[in-house]
Amino acid sequence: SNDSFQPSRVTNDKLLDELLAPTFNEGSCLSSCGPLSKPFDKVMKMGTKSSKNIAATKCKYIVWTPANGLGNRMITLAAAFLYAILTDRVLLVRFGSDMAGLFCEPFPDSSWLLPQKFPYRKEWKHVETYEGMLNKTKNSKELWPSFLILNLQHAHDRHNNFFHCDRSQGLLHKVPVLILRSDQYFAPSLFMVPSFEQELSKMFPEKDTVFHHLGRYLFHPSNEAWDLITRFYQAHLAKAKERIGLQIRVYNTHKSPHETVIKEILACTYKHKLLPELEMQSSVTSPMKNTSKAVLVASLYPEYGEKLRAMYLNNTTVTGEVVRVFQPSHEQRQNSNDNMHNIKAWTEIYLLSLCDALITSPRSTFGYVAQGLRGLKPWIWQKVFGDQISDPPCQQAMSMEPCFHYPPKHDCKDRKVNFTSLFPHIISCEDASLGLKLV
Ligand code: GDP
Repeated sequence: SNDSFQPSRVTNDKLLDELLAPTFNEGSCLSSCGPLSKPFDKVMKMGTKSSKNIAATKCKYIVWTPANGLGNRMITLAAAFLYAILTDRVLLVRFGSDMAGLFCEPFPDSSWLLPQKFPYRKEWKHVETYEGMLNKTKNSKELWPSFLILNLQHAHDRHNNFFHCDRSQGLLHKVPVLILRSDQYFAPSLFMVPSFEQELSKMFPEKDTVFHHLGRYLFHPSNEAWDLITRFYQAHLAKAKERIGLQIRVYNTHKSPHETVIKEILACTYKHKLLPELEMQSSVTSPMKNTSKAVLVASLYPEYGEKLRAMYLNNTTVTGEVVRVFQPSHEQRQNSNDNMHNIKAWTEIYLLSLCDALITSPRSTFGYVAQGLRGLKPWIWQKVFGDQISDPPCQQAMSMEPCFHYPPKHDCKDRKVNFTSLFPHIISCEDASLGLKLV
């Protein structure tokens, strides 16, 4: 309908310098494939039945489903968005109540939420899988399914799944609805697909900004999250001269005790002059009261914020700088099925992304999202064992891109291959020896 047409919204820019008539209605040009459109309903009715008409379906979809924590979910969603753009699919997300309060809708005049009436919202036992289809393609007479589960989950497929190969992309292209299961940032594998190469190089002249752009396009905090973000920022971070974000994700607190982790993070911050050391003698140096650093600590454990806060409250620093430490929450354990828990996680990821420097945890996707949104290369601390800190305590990431922890190891002829020597803009990750990332 024309009801929502507002002439003022159609700027000269959009009229291509008056090439188009001023009455040009943007609405009339919107993709008509969106959820609840007629073509959408038609595709949904196809169910999993194979059909000869499938190839004629103009509207295609990729349905993102959640797996693992919020960081994993966000990096996968960004990769799914890129895949959707490259393959001309509508991106739909299956958010449960645990993600309902996180983000604003990113696409104007449409919704990315998977409609309730999607036939396989909860249960997809009977939907064909990508692997199943790969095996079947030997029989070329096989009919194409209209719905397919694309499982790119980590550790799901120990051998080659050929997702990074043109031939597989050719097969997937015929399937109207892909249901994606993944917790990985698989964008680097899209850069390995020859038929995507040209489009990708036009989209991303700088390869290390892929997540930065996709993430900033997609992820806008909901009002509830924004309220928490702005209140915390204004109360604690806004007035500081410099904001330092410490993201402390410890997977095993027995193997990596808090004491050692703190020691290592401090060693890192001292070495790279991110935080000042403490004055050892009680001294008479007058503190430079007007210079201050705010430290944002994100961690499941309260010990980190408490320890650092006390340290800088009870001591003067060698530079005279005043350092204040803040930790917004300490949830103790991951609880990714809970909306408020996820809102807190999102709030902290976003607050980290407002910092001037970041120290992040090895292999943590939570940190990847923060650094990517911020657009900077973080210092990654090294995993610690027992009371041993590593030397060096941390190293700076080569790019702001998330690491793809479980990339393919084989080429399209199933030969073992080193992708870093094939693609100049793909390197090994600093924090995961088998992982690959864009640079
Ligand atoms: P990863 O496991 O470090 O790669 O990150 P994920 O985000 O995928 O999963 C960890 C989850 O644990 C987060 O999504 C949060 O639910 C929780 N979590 C971990 N670290 C923090 C933190 O610093 N702050 C908050 N609020 N939650 C955290």
